[in-house]
Amino acid sequence: MTRVIITGAKGRMGQALLACAKHFREIEIVVAIDLGDDLGAVISKGDAVIDFSAHTATPGIVELCAGNGKAVVIGTTGHSEREKAEIGKWKSQTPIVLASNFSTGVNALFWLTRKAAEILGPDFDLEIVETHHRLKKDAPSGTAKTLAEILAGVRKLPLDQAVRHGRVGIVGERTPSEIGVHSIRGGDVVGDHTVIFAANGERLELTHKASSRETFANGALRAALWAVRQKPGLYDMQHVLGLK
Ligand code: NAD
Repeated sequence: MTRVIITGAKGRMGQALLACAKHFREIEIVVAIDLGDDLGAVISKGDAVIDFSAHTATPGIVELCAGNGKAVVIGTTGHSEREKAEIGKWKSQTPIVLASNFSTGVNALFWLTRKAAEILGPDFDLEIVETHHRLKKDAPSGTAKTLAEILAGVRKLPLDQAVRHGRVGIVGERTPSEIGVHSIRGGDVVGDHTVIFAANGERLELTHKASSRETFANGALRAALWAVRQKPGLYDMQHVLGLK
């Protein structure tokens, strides 16, 4: 039995994790905490922590996990470069799974996006469109950022300079070295992502649509079962699914 602690338990994802964990015979949720609770006081009760809280909370959670030899699965998105570096510095001490998206479908989208970019080559313009519910706090989504990283990697473009967040005003003609990223917010959309490859005379679009948070919750629970058996290191969902 793997004993799991959830941080951010009162949130949308926390509630989905609690519901989905009931269907995992090998998982027991031993503690479910939220803002104001003290993880340090209860961490000894678990084997792994699953974090879907706030980007500011993650570095402290990972530090506590590393100090106590607990695996940690991070679903929270929106981390700054500094927060990412703070998380990464514990990778030699404990297994850390950090994924902008835990759904199997989106991880297939990541794989397909890399493959399509390699096949289609530099003549195709690259644009990413993501849609989420009106309550989402960060933009663009962590998943859209991962998609942009994949595209920039294949094209060998410096990510910071390549990404164009929406366009307004007289921006001039589109250059081949840009990756457009556009965020739509509204209603209760769980999460849609489309990668557009547009050339003269043809366009390829890869789309994933999540209609339930269960897909993320089940993936994160699966990642926790996997993480407790790993050596210390920084992993993502592609490792968990055996795609890397
Ligand atoms: P939410 O706002 O519904 O829930 C977040 C919860 O975390 C709230 O209950 C809040 O009180 C709590 N929280 C805030 N600070 C905390 C702290 N310091 N310690 C403990 N709890 C704290 O948000 P949500 O929709 O559940 O999403 C949570 C995060 O997960 C977001 O960053 C979101 O982008 C991300 N997310 C990731 C995936 C994925 O597959 N990786 C999927 C969905 C959402």
